Amino acid sequence: MTTTPQAPARIDVMRPWLGPEEVAALREVVESGWVAQGPKVAEFEERFAARMGVAHAVATSSCTAALHLALVLRGIGAGDEVVVPSFSFIATANAVRYVGARAVFADIDPETGNITAQTVGQVLSGSTRAVIGVDQGGVPLDLHPLRELLDPRGIALIEDAACGTGSTYRGSPVGADADIACWSFHPRKLLTTGEGGMLTTNDAPTAQRARRLREHAMDISAATRHRTLLAPAEHYLEVGFNYRMTDLQAAVGIVQIGRLDAIVARRRSTAERYQSRLHGIAGIRPITDPDWGTTNYQSCWIELDDRYPVRRDDLLRILATEGISGRRGIMTAHRQPAYAGVPHADLSASERLSDNSLILPVHHELTDAEIDRVADLIIQTAGEGR
Ligand SMILES: *Cc1c(COP(=O)(O)O)cnc(C)c1O
Repeated sequence: MTTTPQAPARIDVMRPWLGPEEVAALREVVESGWVAQGPKVAEFEERFAARMGVAHAVATSSCTAALHLALVLRGIGAGDEVVVPSFSFIATANAVRYVGARAVFADIDPETGNITAQTVGQVLSGSTRAVIGVDQGGVPLDLHPLRELLDPRGIALIEDAACGTGSTYRGSPVGADADIACWSFHPRKLLTTGEGGMLTTNDAPTAQRARRLREHAMDISAATRHRTLLAPAEHYLEVGFNYRMTDLQAAVGIVQIGRLDAIVARRRSTAERYQSRLHGIAGIRPITDPDWGTTNYQSCWIELDDRYPVRRDDLLRILATEGISGRRGIMTAHRQPAYAGVPHADLSASERLSDNSLILPVHHELTDAEIDRVADLIIQTAGEGR
């Protein structure tokens, strides 16, 4: 018998942490006969708000939908400017376009990948009505200096916390100090409901209108109508949206919220192992906790500089050859066709970090041996280039 050489086991960049508890929760919802937005969504919202230390949470179909609602809730529209990082997933800028406003790109702090009071200050104008700050890859935004800049000018601060579930800012969960924060439960994020999002705020009227807007702006929710035999007539108070989450998704979300601490702990220990292995390798900078908080390592990323002998895309190819799936760093919106020709300030820090960073595999099934396989290859590549 001949043996064929075994390809090394594939290492995925990310895998959602799902188990039999989620299956049981789904079964219960299916058997209940109520699968659309209902009691499970309400329970998920309550648990999420409590865990994030905010007064109100409104579930949505995605973070993109929540970002759109946030801008509608702040009355932003044609003729207004909204400052966003270009260094973000495209949805951050797209939400601004949805309401007919102009997305103005601010550059980032090259260490954290996030906008700062300084970079935002450079692009404010008399038409700026809101700023969307992102906790990029889970790294918390330095929010308080932004508030100091924006509050006296009456400019809304919206936090795109899509990646931030489980990250902290000055000892508390991120998101709580923004006017509105938006969260994602896409499988690439910390918690997942398949697709799904959340909008959180401490302002009761904002939460109440968000609840209406996500459900066609009906004055009586479908869940309430369904509970009565003779449903009261509903009214549509303004033009709303169908941005509802389903009870199937929320049931999974309730289980996931219970896993959050374990997920963050696991990701942080994986990141620490990478960092200790890669420590001292010239040309590699891990993106880690800033002074003001902790990251959940939604993305565990490293930046390469000229001392590292191969470029980022070459390193990704070398990793792929060994069955390891990494990812290019965060994209920049201003270099995408959808934003071609949009005038912008100097975004060189965004371009540099986007072009020279890569995301390493992190998920709950990754073993120490697999982490070492990834790290060893990066170390070996550093050596060969010398
Ligand atoms: C993933 C992501 C989004 C979009 O989230 P969805 O739930 O997929 O709509 C928005 N902003 C940032 C920064 C993201 O990483």
